[in-house]
Amino acid sequence: MNVVDSEVVAAILQQQQYQLTGEIGEADLILVNTCSIRENAEQRVRARLREFRKIKEQHKEVTVGIIGCMAERLKEQLLSEEPVVDLVVGPDAYRRLPVLLDNVQQGQKGIDTVLSAEETYDDIDPVRMDRNHVTSFVSVMRGCDNFCAYCVVPGTRGRERSRDPETIVGEATTLFRKGYREVTLLGQNVNSYRWDRGDKPVTFERLLELVSGIDPLLRVRFATSHPKDMTDDLLKVMARYPNLCRSIHLPVQSGSTEVLKRMKRGYSRERYMDRVTAIRRYLPGATLSTDIITGFCGETEQDHAQTLSLMEWAGYDFAYMFKYSERPGTLAARKYTDDVPEKVKTRRLNEIIELQQKLSLTAKEKEIGRTVEVLVEGTSKKSGDHLYGRSSQNMVVVFPRGNLKPGDYVQVRITGCTSATLLGAPA
Ligand code: SAH
Ligand code: SF4
Repeated sequence: MNVVDSEVVAAILQQQQYQLTGEIGEADLILVNTCSIRENAEQRVRARLREFRKIKEQHKEVTVGIIGCMAERLKEQLLSEEPVVDLVVGPDAYRRLPVLLDNVQQGQKGIDTVLSAEETYDDIDPVRMDRNHVTSFVSVMRGCDNFCAYCVVPGTRGRERSRDPETIVGEATTLFRKGYREVTLLGQNVNSYRWDRGDKPVTFERLLELVSGIDPLLRVRFATSHPKDMTDDLLKVMARYPNLCRSIHLPVQSGSTEVLKRMKRGYSRERYMDRVTAIRRYLPGATLSTDIITGFCGETEQDHAQTLSLMEWAGYDFAYMFKYSERPGTLAARKYTDDVPEKVKTRRLNEIIELQQKLSLTAKEKEIGRTVEVLVEGTSKKSGDHLYGRSSQNMVVVFPRGNLKPGDYVQVRITGCTSATLLGAPA
């Protein structure tokens, strides 16, 4: 999400004659787009600010700004705690950057953290910062109304709002014409996307049909879908369009119904399992990935065991795994006690990671001997003679370069794997 936001900010600033630079020493303006989801994300930003202080000691004219969720969460407090910061801009105020930068030029500090019920930046053509010019992100909605008990996002990114579908299809079409071959539709909870302002409401299912219909050669992915809104209708649409990629990210967070209830996730263990069963039924062979939080308030050893058993049952191909981090202002911070000791959180996380590595390896091993269609993205990091790309199932595949180039589709026969990558050769 922050990548797209940075691309929007770059577009707004380009209209003001700013240019991107890869050299921090050349910059007149340094903006840090921030995330507040876990405490360590914010600590990393604080460490970066100490580096910028040194840069500013040498170049007094450099402007430093904090944008995004941390700006929204801390507001004026950031200006008083971090004197190096000149500018604090929340996620809905990027259009005001030129005015705020003028204020800074005149020796003031610039701050705007007003959230909006409507801003989607839908008319702004983002300046793409991807390296490969093959895959890109397209924002379809902003904010979140779910208020999961542990989560800071509804507070820092405001109410959920969907973007005009015409502008989404327009952006994806332009990308395709420029040679891009994959778009990922982004939002905190994409399957609650809804646009009511036309003749007929556009649901997420309809939006997927519209974007997938641009061209069969344009692959379409989306993230993140919420288990409570994962409908059979959505899966049926996916089954109809081969260019809708066969991989679903469905964050479970915990395998225990009790914990899910306290997290206010809106589904039980059984309901989640029912949704995974539906995915397997409509999309055989699709891969499944997830997010897991361990050590949430009141989590017992039994709850933890339920998470492990659900992981095993679902056979996740990939997972993002986190220790619970209490965030100020959330329901959990106000109402529950962060009572799982750090040591226990670490041990549980290690068990979860270890299991996931085993599951990821098993999933990759199953691919050996198969032939998969790969969209070529670029040169492999490890060898200039090899390219990498991804299968529809979102598995990374490495193979000899041959005459192939980024943007090509190629059938690759899988001959080996690690827990993260498939190895093969063009079939
Ligand atoms: N909207 C998406 C995820 C957004 S945040 C969804 O609901 O699935 C990405 C992930 O960060 C979450 O899925 C969750 O696993 C993790 N996360 C969010 N708040 C957290 C917290 N306070 N501590 C640890 N992990 C957290
Ligand atoms: Fe946070 Fe829940 Fe919204 Fe995801 S759905 S962004 S976890 S509140």
